[in-house]
Amino acid sequence: MNMIDSYRHKGLRKQLVEEIKRKGIRDENVLAAIEKIPRHYFMNSSFIEFAYEDQAFPIDAGQTISQPYTVAFQTELLQVRKGDKVLEIGTGSGYQTTILMELGAKVYTIERQKVLYDKVKSFLPSIGYKPKFFYGDGYLGLHAFAPFDRILVTAGAPYIPEALTSQLKIGGILVIPVGDSMGQEMTTVYKKTETEFEIKQWGGFRFVPLVGDSER
Ligand code: SAH
Repeated sequence: MNMIDSYRHKGLRKQLVEEIKRKGIRDENVLAAIEKIPRHYFMNSSFIEFAYEDQAFPIDAGQTISQPYTVAFQTELLQVRKGDKVLEIGTGSGYQTTILMELGAKVYTIERQKVLYDKVKSFLPSIGYKPKFFYGDGYLGLHAFAPFDRILVTAGAPYIPEALTSQLKIGGILVIPVGDSMGQEMTTVYKKTETEFEIKQWGGFRFVPLVGDSER
């Protein structure tokens, strides 16, 4: 793993931030987090030189590190406030986790691929990030630690799992890509009361699928 963050890397990150700004990301805190985190630390060695391209890349277990624009877009929709308790489903490379932590979130992150869980659980603390890690099925949320201010799903879900909306605080926001393997619609669910939700859609994206434990 290349753990040197050089001036060249920093320069490439500045260009990446300009690119995602052009694509419409406005939130200054989100842009600052993207500029700060060395994305190349999270990439597999064969793709490191492409770390600052605005693209998704393969990581272990057939999964992907999301495209920076997508990470920024989801994070912007999540409207994280300092101190928010955030549940992230799909730890993957851990890149998105560190972006949430840069915004001051207390992050609970779940991953169902053991190799990724093991890798990220030792890697993130080594670069100074200590979220709470869980190995399991994110479809179920994290009942024991609910409710959450924010919930972020970073894999494509066929529907909005009821466990997740029920584990959201009133006034809380769930961001989830909803659809099938052909593509998903970025969706926000704002919890108005225990039984009332405001659902909005924000355009098409393409994620690896959210896989339930029964389908393992
Ligand atoms: N946020 C990640 C993106 C990872 S891709 C990053 O920044 O790198 C989506 C991840 O969701 C994959 O690692 C996949 O294994 C995981 N995943 C899929 N279904 C899941 C489930 N039911 N519970 C938890 N994680 C799941």
